[in-house]
Order: sequence, then structure tokens, then C-alpha cells
Amino acid sequence: MSRYLSRNEKHLPDKFYNIKADLTELPLPPLNPQTREPLNPSDLELIFPKSFIAQEVSMERYIPIPEKVQEAYSIFRPTPLIYASRLKSYIDTPANIFYKFEGVSPTGSHKTNTALMQAYLANQDGIDTLSTETGAGQWGTALAYAGSIFGVKARVFMVRSSFKQKPGRKIMIELYGGEVSESPGPTTEAGQKYYKNNPDHPGSLGIAISEAVEMAIKNPNIKYSLGSVLDTVLIHQSIIGLEAKSQLDEIGVEPDLIIGCVGGGSNFAGISFPFIRRNLKENAKTQYLAVEPEVCASITSGNLRYDNGDAAGLTPFLYMYTLGREFIPPSIHAGGLRYHGMAPLISHLVKSGFIQAKAYSQDKVFEAAKIFLNTEGILPAPESAHAIAAVIDEALKAKKKRCPINILFNLSGHGFLDISAYEKK
Ligand SMILES: *Cc1c(COP(=O)(O)O)cnc(C)c1O
Repeated sequence: MSRYLSRNEKHLPDKFYNIKADLTELPLPPLNPQTREPLNPSDLELIFPKSFIAQEVSMERYIPIPEKVQEAYSIFRPTPLIYASRLKSYIDTPANIFYKFEGVSPTGSHKTNTALMQAYLANQDGIDTLSTETGAGQWGTALAYAGSIFGVKARVFMVRSSFKQKPGRKIMIELYGGEVSESPGPTTEAGQKYYKNNPDHPGSLGIAISEAVEMAIKNPNIKYSLGSVLDTVLIHQSIIGLEAKSQLDEIGVEPDLIIGCVGGGSNFAGISFPFIRRNLKENAKTQYLAVEPEVCASITSGNLRYDNGDAAGLTPFLYMYTLGREFIPPSIHAGGLRYHGMAPLISHLVKSGFIQAKAYSQDKVFEAAKIFLNTEGILPAPESAHAIAAVIDEALKAKKKRCPINILFNLSGHGFLDISAYEKK
């Protein structure tokens, strides 16, 4: 079999998939942070662009992808679905391993999928600036790129520990015309709270979100943009799974197990939800495994409850697995996985038993990344390498059981700008 499965444009969908249309029971609703009453969509208008909110509350099963966004996607989508034959022979497993490679996007990760949609919607709404947070810098870069295409400026608060580890991302954001500063910083009240006592505070995604949200609340022509967690972002990322399903259908392969890393949950939801539809509607038996870092394991060490999406408590209360909004995770190289919460839709599907979760240590993850580089030839992002660590374990289990299962995983990004993390390993 060819290792590179069809990248024919017929696999590029013209609609996103919204799993909410297929759930018999919905997750508990978001609550207003002041009143603790179920949120009114108009409560969100202070923070988010209106067209974004319309998608957040939509119950339509399929949501059209605007033509201009389809055109933007077409320079890198459909992304390749690769048969990992070299990894398979290295592990000497009967399992067939396939991966979707999102690292071919212009900024190197799946984040570009929702960035392009969000910048398009903001421009349609007449907004000139989107404020946002970024961890490892993948999201900030993606939004700056998307902004450069659709005429919207990106104002990025970057978690300080990552800012120092990954200077290349700052350069990229600026090259695309975005503006970036270290978080926590002195320009917002939320940042001041930490910056005053410690100008070297390592920061967290929760704090950076508070800074970006505060900026949107205080400036009428700035709206806030979030790169994961929200239902809308998960809808945009469904393009990954829709393509993968079409690519696998073409060769008659059904995945038995789908694996992805989870920070806020968007790339995992993206590859999984179009397949979970088959579990919900057609009694398919596919299994799903979400992989998180041991030091920031919101599903496997956190609690399912209402919590804010940010540290300062400016965002709505979301019903999700959380380590607590003030949790400051240690500085790990997978900065994109340092988030205290988990997407409400993923949390809901974990609770209902559709999704399993597992946590891995940084050492095990880097070992997996090296095996992947030496077999498949691609340097994975440290985030994506969490998925690879689990794939290797599952392929070894299949070997023990002599069971030729089909494993599909999402390689959410490449690790070129994380290269210094690898130097130390
Ligand atoms: C941001 C990021 C993640 C984690 O975010 P999710 O919303 O859970 O997908 C994973 N991989 C890469 C490459 C990222 O940039």
C-alpha cells in the first residue's frame, strides 16, 4: 500500500460537523460569571464577535464552510493521511497505524483550521483586532497568519515560560503583522496581579486568557478569540475527522481506536467527533483515547464541575474537567497542553463513557518522539508526541494479543520551532 493516502481535493468537505446535533443529552450549559445563571448568548457579545456566538449556540448538524475559507484551506488541505509502515515494522506489531498530519499547514499545526474561520468571521463583523492568548505559540502564530489573510490584526499574550523557551514563535507572529507580549505583563489588571510581585512569573494559559479577555472588554473595536475549548472551535476542527473518514472510506478501512493529545481538546475532538457520530448513530464500536501530560492532567487528575476558563474569572463558568482556574502547571515543553480545563463537549463524552483518557510523563513522550523521528522521519510537536507515546503502547498491546487493530491518530503539528526542547534530550 502507498504510504501517502489520497490527498485528492474530493476529500475536502464544504461543511463542518457539529456533534451537538447528534447528542441525546447535552452538556450542562455555560453560566454567566456574575449571576451564575445559564448564559444568554447576548452576554457573550462583550467578548466575542457576533457571528462566532451564532456558531457557538447552533444546533445544526452541518455548518457550511464559507467559500473564501475553503479557498484558504485548499493550499494545505486535505492534509495527508499517512500509513505508518515504518513505525509499524519498528514496533513489530500486527496493528495498522494511520496518522493525519496537520503539521503541513502554513503555521505548522491544526490551529490554522479555526484561526482562518475566526478571522473570517471577525472581518465579516467589521472587527479590526482580535486579542488572544498563546501557550507554546502555535495558536498565536495561526491567528496572526489568518489575520493577515482576512485583514484582522492579532494582539497576542504569550505565556512567559513559553516565550522564553520558544523565541521563534514571537518572530513568526510579528512577521505576520501580529503584536505579541509576555504574560503576565503590566498592561492589564489581570496581568498586574501577578507581574507586580514577580516580573518573571512563568504565567499560565488561564492568566493569558484573562489578559486578552480584559483587553476585549475594555476596547469596543477589539474582540477576543480562543484557540480551543469552545464548541465553535471544535466544530471548525471537525474538518480533520471529516477528511480522515473520507480518506479511510476510500480504502475500506474502519478505525478501531482513535488517539489524540489533549490540551483544551480541539485537535482530539477534530479527529474524533465525525467518527463518534457512528458510535452514537450506527452502533459503531470504535474506541477513543485522549492523552494528556502527567503534570497538567485535567481529565485523569481533575474534577468535573463548573469552573472559569481563565484565572481571573472573567469568562463564563464552563462545566468541565478542571484542575482549578488558578492552577499553575510546571513549565513543560508541550506548552499547548498546559491548560487547567477541558472542552465541555470532551468532558461530557468522557463522563458518558465514549472517551477514555491517559496521562504520560515528559520523558516517555520525548522517547516516543525520537522513535517517531527515526522511523517516520517527521519531528513531532511535543504536544503531538503525547499521542505517539500512547500509540506505541497500544500497538505493543496489539502485538501481545496478536490483534491486527486499526489505529488512527492525529499528528497535530510539527516540532521545528520546538527544536531547543529536543537539544536537551
Ligand atoms: C495547541 C496544540 C495542542 C493542544 O490543543 P488542543 O486544543 O487540545 O488541540 C496540541 N498540539 C499542537 C501542535 C498544538 O499547537
